Amino acid sequence: MTTGLRFPLVCFDLDGTLVDDTVYIWTTLHEGFGTDAAARQRAHDDFFAQRITYREWLAHDFQLLRAAGATRDSMLAFIDRLKPMRGAFETLRELRRRGHRIAIVSGSLDIVVTRLFGDFPFDHVLINRIDFDDDGHITGGEHTPYDVQNKAAGLHELCRREGIAPSQAVFVGDNENDLWIAEAAGRSIAFNCKSDRLAQLATYVVTEKDLRQVLPLIE
Ligand SMILES: [Mg+2]
Repeated sequence: MTTGLRFPLVCFDLDGTLVDDTVYIWTTLHEGFGTDAAARQRAHDDFFAQRITYREWLAHDFQLLRAAGATRDSMLAFIDRLKPMRGAFETLRELRRRGHRIAIVSGSLDIVVTRLFGDFPFDHVLINRIDFDDDGHITGGEHTPYDVQNKAAGLHELCRREGIAPSQAVFVGDNENDLWIAEAAGRSIAFNCKSDRLAQLATYVVTEKDLRQVLPLIE
């Protein structure tokens, strides 16, 4: 990178950070479609006890949503109830104007990004992909290797692609699944924060729910 910026790369979490009205899109969708809550909890526990892989957890989630009748259109209807975070577009455009590279590292779903930020040219998006057939039924997808603890590996991967050190990356996120990536980044900003641990670990905590408040912290 020859931009001369101290932090050439800015990575954002998606749910609760760039997107408002949801903590995790998975919770929003599962509650919205009324999927089997016990089965969902079991898979969650199995993943965190390392009895199943992340890929198996994702496949299980897709299966539950499919069984509850979720389709492309009905999922998009739930996503349409969410809004980009206040100040999100202004923040992204300003970072772009300053010459930063901009990334999303998230365990959410690609259709949330395309639906709410379709026009914005992110430089990197590391996220789960969901696939549908021509009738809009879920056929599967591709898991991100970079969720929870592995979000930090996602940041390292993006720094490698950009030819910079992790100390030259900023991360902005809101919750427990961001602890590892926040620790890996040179500067971290807890925004719209629901995690005491993240607030303690982050370089800065932004309490006003307007994403533009992170801009002075990324000079
Ligand atoms: Mg989040």
